[in-house]
Amino acid sequence: MNDRASFLRAICADPDEVTPRLAFADWLDEHGDHADRVRATYIRADIAIHAVGVENLRCKRTNIRLWPEGLPDATAATPRQRCRCEGCSLARRHRHAAVRGHAKWRYEVVGEAVDRLVDALPSADQPVTNFAGRQINHAWLPRARFRRGFAEVLICHAATIVPLLGEVFARAPIRHVEVAGLVTHTGRGVILREWNTPTRLWELIAPAGRGELRFDHTATARQEISRRLIEHGRRERDRIWSPRPQNRG
Ligand SMILES: [Zn+2]
Repeated sequence: MNDRASFLRAICADPDEVTPRLAFADWLDEHGDHADRVRATYIRADIAIHAVGVENLRCKRTNIRLWPEGLPDATAATPRQRCRCEGCSLARRHRHAAVRGHAKWRYEVVGEAVDRLVDALPSADQPVTNFAGRQINHAWLPRARFRRGFAEVLICHAATIVPLLGEVFARAPIRHVEVAGLVTHTGRGVILREWNTPTRLWELIAPAGRGELRFDHTATARQEISRRLIEHGRRERDRIWSPRPQNRG
């Protein structure tokens, strides 16, 4: 592999595997600029943190949890007083890289889709009516949560997910989709009216041959929806990537 697009394809094609991510980090270090090296540091640190488990990331001296409480640097008067143990060093490397690049990496995953959605909104205080007569507000905008160096969790509203899925799955190794707006108080049918493409939605998540769509609040139902959306996203990703030449820079 010799370019970003090939690495990204390999990473997206195997979202469970860390090897292509680490290979990408090495490549960024060798071929990239300063921002790329920050990205490489973040990928390695994030993989290391998730390997030990965020709940086990502790200062080796004080045993203080470093996640999500954060580093004890705030209490250190000078950089010399910072703890240099393995845990604190790893957490510091991670945060240092994240604050420099997170916004950019997030933008690369969901940015254009967010921009398009935001363009439809006059302002945060003035939600517009769209998507089959429903009001849109900023809570509907998609977000991405990073795991092991890349966006692995896509959080979005049911009304925006269909146009979003193909794009996002081509850009990040999404392993999980959290969808707001799928569970309703009545638990049936309402979701179809919230979508701008109800037929597509029906194909995606309605069990074949069922005459009505039921949602419940159980984890099993959410996992099933998530699984179907992920499968759909991967098909969309394949469709998007396949017509393109192999060596895009
Ligand atoms: Zn420490």
